[in-house]
Amino acid sequence: MHQNKLFNLMRLRLAAWYAVVIGFLMLLFGFSMYQIMAQVHWHALDQELETVAGILHDGLEPDLTKPGQIVSEVQEFLPGLCMANIDCSSTVVPSQRHILGLFQQEGYYLRLLDLSGATLATLGNQPQGLPISAKPLWQTIANSQGDRYHQISMPLQATNSPFWGYVQVGRSLRDFDEHLIMIKRFLLASPVVLLLVTIVSWWMAGLAMRPVYRSYNQIQQFTADVAHELRTPLAAAQTTVESVLQMPHLSESEVRLTLQTVERQNGRLSQIVQDLLMLARMDIQGLAQKRQLCCLNDLVNDVVEEMAALALVADVMLTDQVQTRQYLKVLGDEEQLYRVLTNLITNAIQHTPKNGNIVVALRHADHHALISVQDTGSGIAPEDLPRIFDRFYRVESDRSRSTGGSGLGLSIVQSIIQAHQGTIQVQSQLGNGSMFTVRLPLVRMS
Ligand code: ADP
Repeated sequence: MHQNKLFNLMRLRLAAWYAVVIGFLMLLFGFSMYQIMAQVHWHALDQELETVAGILHDGLEPDLTKPGQIVSEVQEFLPGLCMANIDCSSTVVPSQRHILGLFQQEGYYLRLLDLSGATLATLGNQPQGLPISAKPLWQTIANSQGDRYHQISMPLQATNSPFWGYVQVGRSLRDFDEHLIMIKRFLLASPVVLLLVTIVSWWMAGLAMRPVYRSYNQIQQFTADVAHELRTPLAAAQTTVESVLQMPHLSESEVRLTLQTVERQNGRLSQIVQDLLMLARMDIQGLAQKRQLCCLNDLVNDVVEEMAALALVADVMLTDQVQTRQYLKVLGDEEQLYRVLTNLITNAIQHTPKNGNIVVALRHADHHALISVQDTGSGIAPEDLPRIFDRFYRVESDRSRSTGGSGLGLSIVQSIIQAHQGTIQVQSQLGNGSMFTVRLPLVRMS
């Protein structure tokens, strides 16, 4: 396949298509995964901040009196709260349980803002260099180092005033950003994966094209064989006509002889074309077209009776043995099944020397009929056995040519049997004869 330019090009194209399609699907999948993970993460983050802010909001509001004023109840509710303009860096914050413990973790912070948005008090790790504003409700902001923070600001109501200020809860987005960067890095590694996909695609394209290449070779071989087979009778007829045309005078017997030669070669040509047409038709149709009930007992008797004359001429004994009392019936094309038997018996007669024996037997086995044609002829060499059903294959071509065969007989037999959902097997020993066994499914009679 590597030497064939056309196939190499096709393989390249196929591999490129595989790589493009798989690569595109991978990128699409990766991008979707990235989006989904980012959204799920972001949603969880929002929920966390909203829950914490909501709990604090509800807990703080009953203790709020004057706008912007932080009373001792608020400080009790939020232990460790650091008032604005007081340095609380050395203050030891008692360890907190429940929701307030969150602000002892790195990256979480709380702010109480007055109505103008100025910081009144803070809790937790306050981010440096972050613009402070109470609006809008949700904010994602970054400091000069590029560290991002996400926060929620909820308005607080005092007991005797509509607004007290805001409670602002936020957290650093460092974990979140690191997580996304990790996924992005993984996605950026996709060129390496694409390269692997391309290599695998090339290999897969090779695998996919192997059977195509095999049948392409078979078709080429078949075309060459057909041309070769047709050339022989054509050349023989041409030579005969040419040599006769060069003769100054032709007697009637010479003309008759020439025409007989041309007719013989013509007959051979027609036979080859007919066989090829039949094989082509069977290749297209698959199953036998005409399907009728055929009684194999009658078929075997009829064929043996008709071939008896041919066997007599060849001086071989042809007998049939129907080894069953039942009538074995199959569904199929009687004409085609007739052809199977005549082909097998003709071959047997042609390859059996004088005084040899040919036995055509019919028997019944597991819902199948077995028809065997056994001869005491020349047999087939083990190296030829696997190839005798190939189109145009002939054992010792010279001898076969003298029988007038073109090597299509057994191919046709096999095609017919397959069209009847049967099988054909051969057992043979060089010098000891051959046995062809046809197995056909019987019609189930209810
Ligand atoms: P053809 O149409 O030329 O007879 P086939 O396809 O029928 O060719 O047979 C293929 C080859 O198998 C032939 O070359 C022949 O030598 C061999 N063959 C077929 N049947 C027998 C047999 N009964 N005994 C020995 N050789 C056989």
